[in-house]
Amino acid sequence: MIKTTCKICGYDKEFGDKYAGKTFKCPNCTSPVKIEINQILSESKIINEDITNFPIQTPKIKIVINKITYIILGSFIFAFLLLFIFLIKHILQFLKIISILKVLMLIVKKKI
Ligand SMILES: [Zn+2]
Repeated sequence: MIKTTCKICGYDKEFGDKYAGKTFKCPNCTSPVKIEINQILSESKIINEDITNFPIQTPKIKIVINKITYIILGSFIFAFLLLFIFLIKHILQFLKIISILKVLMLIVKKKI
């Protein structure tokens, strides 16, 4: 359906899509009003959006699967972060041990 508004008196009338591009006489002020094609195009866009929105809303299983994947991914990222922190701590400790050993080696060398 195309909603057409008379530009002179503001009278609203709805037409079928087949009347697009044609003119009609306004029943209120008898001035010619063109039924614009642009209006159907915008309406068909809205219909298309409705169609595309429908399959997202209907299968609840997909939403559940998405949620599960998000939870799994989130926990994986969290585990990796924990591992990363753990490794950094250990690497730092390792580096500290190496530096201590180097100092000890120097001391030993000086004594010799
Ligand atoms: Zn009118």
